Amino acid sequence: MSLHTHHWIKAATKGLEGHYFDVALGVAIIAYRLEASGDCLVYKGTIDAGGYGVVMTTGKTLGMAHRFTYIATYGPIPDGLEIDHLCRNRACARPDHLEAVTHFENIQRIWRTQTHCVNGHEFNAENTYFYGPTRQRKCRVCARERARRYYHSAQERATA
Ligand SMILES: [Zn+2]
Ligand SMILES: [Zn+2]
Repeated sequence: MSLHTHHWIKAATKGLEGHYFDVALGVAIIAYRLEASGDCLVYKGTIDAGGYGVVMTTGKTLGMAHRFTYIATYGPIPDGLEIDHLCRNRACARPDHLEAVTHFENIQRIWRTQTHCVNGHEFNAENTYFYGPTRQRKCRVCARERARRYYHSAQERATA
C-alpha cells in the first residue's frame, strides 16, 4: 500500500471550519486503533452517533477515520462524492471496503439493504412516499398510524 501522506483533510470540528489536517497525522492516530473483526478493520477509538469512527487529538475532532484511510490509500475524495462502506460496517476503516460514490448512489444502496421501515412494513411501490426537499423515503402505513393516533388524541382532548 503506497501512502499519499501529503494530502490534507478538511476539519470537522466546529470553530475550526476552513482548517485542514495532515492525513498522515490522522492515519498515524488510526493505525494503532484498528482491530480486525471478520473481514473488517474496525476503529476502536471514538464512535459518533451515526456509528462512524472519529479521529480525535487533544480534544479536537480531526475527521472520520474511514475518510483518512481512504484518502491515504486512493488520494483526495473527488468533489461531490461521499464515502460508502461496501461492508455496511460504518466503523470499518479498511480502504478496500470503501468506495467514493454520489450521495444519490449511497442512498440507493442503503434503500436496497433496508427493505422495511423500522416497524417492519415493506417499502414497496404502494407503501412508499417521498418527503421534503431531500426526498426522504417514508412508510405510508406508519404515516396513517401517526395520523390516526393524532386524530384520536385530538378527539379525546375535545371531549375532555
Ligand atoms: Zn469493512
Ligand atoms: Zn411502517
